[in-house]
Amino acid sequence: MNPNPYINEDLQALAETVRRFAQEKVAPGFQERDRTRVLDRALLREMGELGFIVPELPEQFGGLGMGCLAAGVIHEEIARADLSFSYLNLLASLNAQILSKYGQPEVVKPWLQKLIQGQAICAIALTEPRGGSHPAELSTRAVRTTTAQGEVYRIDGVKHFISNAGKAQFLVVFAKTDPAAGARGVSAFIVPTSTPGVHVSSPEKLMGIRGGHAFEVSFDAVDVPLDHRLGAEGTGFKTAMKVLDNSRLDVAATSLGIAEAALDAAVQWAKTRQIGGEPLSGKQGIQWMLADMKLRLEAAWGLTLQALALREAGQPFTLQSAMCKLYASEMVAFVTDAALQIHGGYGFTRDMPLERYVRDARILRIYEGSSEIQRNIIARTVLD
Ligand SMILES: Cc1cc2nc3c(=O)[nH]c(=O)nc-3n(C[C@H](O)[C@H](O)[C@H](O)COP(=O)(O)OP(=O)(O)OC[C@H]3O[C@@H](n4cnc5c(N)ncnc54)[C@H](O)[C@@H]3O)c2cc1C
Repeated sequence: MNPNPYINEDLQALAETVRRFAQEKVAPGFQERDRTRVLDRALLREMGELGFIVPELPEQFGGLGMGCLAAGVIHEEIARADLSFSYLNLLASLNAQILSKYGQPEVVKPWLQKLIQGQAICAIALTEPRGGSHPAELSTRAVRTTTAQGEVYRIDGVKHFISNAGKAQFLVVFAKTDPAAGARGVSAFIVPTSTPGVHVSSPEKLMGIRGGHAFEVSFDAVDVPLDHRLGAEGTGFKTAMKVLDNSRLDVAATSLGIAEAALDAAVQWAKTRQIGGEPLSGKQGIQWMLADMKLRLEAAWGLTLQALALREAGQPFTLQSAMCKLYASEMVAFVTDAALQIHGGYGFTRDMPLERYVRDARILRIYEGSSEIQRNIIARTVLD
């Protein structure tokens, strides 16, 4: 393995361990998961036992208290093997951040334990059918009401494209507690999927990340105790935006992972494929493609490290997070497409991973805020 020059020796050792695990255990099953869409829960538990799920969770919640760079390295290395598996891990990170920061410890601690051990799956339910790009305009309602069991929040509404919801034991749900208050009227809740009234559809038929699954979830008079609210009433939108800053950075890390895998494959192929009596790598046209792939990959690394450094230092990083998510997700589209092109017709077959890299990479420009939304965030800062 080439050591990553941008991280210290401890993180390099972590990257090496995760890469070995990912290449030995995660990569071999990706074709099968892509075809059958079966989630490998045993593999998830193994990741949990090795401390690869939410390593940044503070020790008081059972985590390892590692920095966000460690988490980024893990997301990158797992994505190099299988993006859908690393997205499962990324969502665990997001939910763990919300639960540990805003939840009542006695409510959230048991869930967090199961999450980091890979024994529970969680989903984050923000997007609604009316449109994911403007999450302040939620229709899902949470109304405080009194029942025979005491005071509860009663949740009604529909969420769309919720990753892993059909496999999850609990959801973090965003709903309006005060519809007149706009973004300030949104609150967040933890909702076990076993709660009466939670209905999950069959999975969407996706183009990529087919080892993961997105579902529609409806809430039909779902009652949750008051202590299942995460943070104060009306702070849910702010929570979602903070979490999205982190998730965009993690999406950039996963983009780097796939792009590295695609570039490695392209270099190998170019060196061994003989055309006209010489390896493909001898052709200047191919060399320039490889040079452009490397250049964009390194530029994405730079932006990602910039955002990670600010996050690790506790500084605001909304702009940097938007920039690295946007750039890295567009970079990986270019790199995976070029890698497929270098493989010619072989790249277009399902015997090789190239076509899957292209399909998987496509979602990176859509979820956790589309490219257009990242450009809006960047433009707002420029014009401020
Ligand atoms: C596989 C998958 C997994 C997902 N997982 C989750 C999950 O776990 N939890 C969750 O809550 N959501 C999840 N999502 C939802 C995802 O975050 C949304 O799809 C995304 O935010 C875009 O929302 P939308 O699909 O409703 O598109 P829309 O909001 O309808 O947008 C359509 C198009 O218009 C553009 N657009 C919108 N507003 C503007 C604007 N102001 N300026 C310029 N262009 C604009 C968008 O960029 C997009 O190109 C997932 C989606 C997919 C496909």
